[in-house]
Amino acid sequence: MHEIDQTQTVTLAGAGLVGSLLAMFLARRGFQVEVLERRADMRREGGSAGRSINLAISTRGLHALRQVGLEQEALQHAIPMRGRMIHSVSGELSLQPYGKDDSQHINSISRAWLNKCLMTHAEETGRVGIRFKQRIQEVDVDTGALTVLDEPSGVTHEARTSVLFGTDGSGSAVRQSMMRLPGYTSTQAPLSHGYKELTIPAGPGGAFQMEKNALHIWPRGSYMLIALPNEDGSFTCTLFLPFEGPVSFASLDSPGKVLAFFEEQFPDSVPLLPELTHDFFHNPTGTMVTVKGMPWYVGGRALVLGDAAHAIVPFFGQGMNCGFEDCVVLDGCLERHRTWEEAFAEFFHLRKTNADAIADMAVENFTEMSSSTASARFLLEKQVEKA
Ligand code: FAD
Repeated sequence: MHEIDQTQTVTLAGAGLVGSLLAMFLARRGFQVEVLERRADMRREGGSAGRSINLAISTRGLHALRQVGLEQEALQHAIPMRGRMIHSVSGELSLQPYGKDDSQHINSISRAWLNKCLMTHAEETGRVGIRFKQRIQEVDVDTGALTVLDEPSGVTHEARTSVLFGTDGSGSAVRQSMMRLPGYTSTQAPLSHGYKELTIPAGPGGAFQMEKNALHIWPRGSYMLIALPNEDGSFTCTLFLPFEGPVSFASLDSPGKVLAFFEEQFPDSVPLLPELTHDFFHNPTGTMVTVKGMPWYVGGRALVLGDAAHAIVPFFGQGMNCGFEDCVVLDGCLERHRTWEEAFAEFFHLRKTNADAIADMAVENFTEMSSSTASARFLLEKQVEKA
């Protein structure tokens, strides 16, 4: 059995949202934490934080930030969203509040700001070192040997660790190495929809051009547009659309078709999207995947968490929130157990069922967001709930 020993140096793969937060939790327990991150340091070289520009952070995620003293700082940079603002084809607006009063809301926050904030606070503990442009290619979990590509030089080298945490996202190299072991399984279910981000810039004087405190949805059945507010007065819109089919990324193959599609389906958004066709053809089309696997750990030597263990589609806005909750739960397991293996086993036991459940609910919520929010019955039910 592998004793938990605070004088150990542990290694994290990935300084994304979950890795950076986990580094803080581990540092607080006294560990030296070495983080290998394949991207450049976005605080110095710019570059994107990947995936969505902004995200919804909810109670689950805020609770985790509270444990490391960052909730208030995060809330200062977050915009409360008190309900869904539904945009009909004819441009009518209706607000569906999330709760019975304004205290029940979710918050829009910049992914890049949050990731940078977490990395900086992790480093400020004095126990966390993040090495950028270091891509983990292969992991031998039995020996703790990592094959790491130093991106600038193109040279691979070997690193060693006694305990490895895979927080390297949905395509996790750590998970892939683990899944080659006997008894390990994982499935990746890609969605037949992709997504495209578009920007509604701020109006004159940084004014919001739509209701600031809402998550905007244009529900249209098999596709939808959503928009979340940003601190600078802009909104980031995300179009969810099938890859193939009569109305799809494949069919919208010219600026004229894109404009005609938006004018027909989302007419009130068109005057707000001055760069619509440019953004549509220059911004990447994102993919979404559900990852389920088991177990998430190899003895007391390696554990995956966050998207690396349980990537989910974004329709519940819970991927990061669940990954943050992983950090809190793992911290509790480390408190209760003497060995890494016992702590990892309990963590897996506590989280697996919940992770599978939210993964399924997130897929189902696409139907809720893209269709049910617009249906007369749903609106009626909401009126009744409110009354
Ligand atoms: P990631 O954010 O993917 O971070 C992984 C890190 O590991 C990255 O920094 C990456 O560069 C690094 N890395 C990867 N491979 C390697 C390697 N081989 N070696 C070294 N480093 C590596 N969640 C919410 O809670 N609310 C939302 O509103 C929300 N909206 C979303 C919208 C969209 C369009 C999408 C796609 C997702 C959304 N999510 C949302 C989900 C959320 O983005 C993820 O759950 C979250 O980013 C998971 O964090 P993570 O740190 O586990 O993984």
